[in-house]
Amino acid sequence: MSSQHPSLKADNTLGLEVHTQKRIVAETPAAILAAWQASQQDQTPFLVLGEGSNVLFLDDFAGTVVLNRIKGITIQDEYESWKLHVGAGENWHELVKSTLEKGIAGLENLALIPGMTGSAPIQNIGAYGVELKDVCEYVDVLNLHSGETERLDREACEFGYRDSIFKHRYQSGYVIVAVGLCLPKQWQPVLTYGDLKTLNPAIASAWDVYHAVCQMRQSKLPDPKVTGNVGSFFKNPVVTQAQCSALLARFPAMPHYLMPEGETKLAAGWLIDQCQLKGYRIGGAAVHQQQALVLINADHALPADIVALARAVRARVGEKFDVWLEPEVRFIQAQGECNAVEVIA
Ligand code: NAP
Repeated sequence: MSSQHPSLKADNTLGLEVHTQKRIVAETPAAILAAWQASQQDQTPFLVLGEGSNVLFLDDFAGTVVLNRIKGITIQDEYESWKLHVGAGENWHELVKSTLEKGIAGLENLALIPGMTGSAPIQNIGAYGVELKDVCEYVDVLNLHSGETERLDREACEFGYRDSIFKHRYQSGYVIVAVGLCLPKQWQPVLTYGDLKTLNPAIASAWDVYHAVCQMRQSKLPDPKVTGNVGSFFKNPVVTQAQCSALLARFPAMPHYLMPEGETKLAAGWLIDQCQLKGYRIGGAAVHQQQALVLINADHALPADIVALARAVRARVGEKFDVWLEPEVRFIQAQGECNAVEVIA
């Protein structure tokens, strides 16, 4: 595609130089609907993005990219909780900070997660022991076929570990336009992860947690404004107890966490690090030096560089541990989203 077509470089946090046929900034559900109807008319692919912080473009996009910029935050002060209705195009971290500034606690563990609020439910963003599902009351979606807005309550969103209905049944034909959050006034800090364990639960404030989370993230994770990345590139693998025990017999120091469902979560970053892959580079793509779970655009990476690197990482971890990593990031080819595992298998 020629460079006369709009660039998506600023619209994907990996900073890949890819183009699209049409790029539309939508501030209302009606604008999203109109863009979709036009793409249906032309029979061209259609993709909605927030800040592009969880996508890997494999190629130029052969259709319309809509940037969801629906704004607006309303806050209801209820007896036991704060209820927030947040437009999908509100920046997530700004939301976290602005709630704390208003004296509303509950989102502090989720500070500095890149992306828009409307993207948060898709992978049920989570960090330092809190997931979106813990605070989400509902998600409003625009049904592109009916033109109506529908409300899905938390249960209907089918939230799972980095997963939701928006990656499956509601992946196409629906666009998230707003998210409803419920933050109880009876606040308890969640201090189960990393350096947060050093805070005293009796006196730690939400701001203390926020600053500790920001400090931990900034020390390990590259700032996408400086170095292109999409956060964790792979999901943490979930294995059976039997698989975990067999691995522990060979690698006694392996971090592992029991999940509520009885399975065990492994730390993908640790597995990658054990393969001595920190700093490993293919073309312009590299495994981040401080956090092996993050693949970076080190120097004018091409989509093919990132794919080759992801494939190499998956193969090395698979060969050593017989655990086969799956991307957390969504892979987008010219015609739309494709199966990320198939691309790197
Ligand atoms: P870390 O502290 O080095 O820990 C490595 C992994 O072990 C994490 O992914 C985490 O799983 C798991 N873990 C650590 N302590 C745990 C505990 N007490 N209970 C259960 N699981 C535990 O992780 P990190 O890379 O610095 O990341 C810190 C947090 O930020 C994690 O929650 C991580 O998911 C989140 N984060 C997410 C992204 C993203 O793009 N999705 C990027 C950076 C960081 P979980 O991932 O399940 O929490």
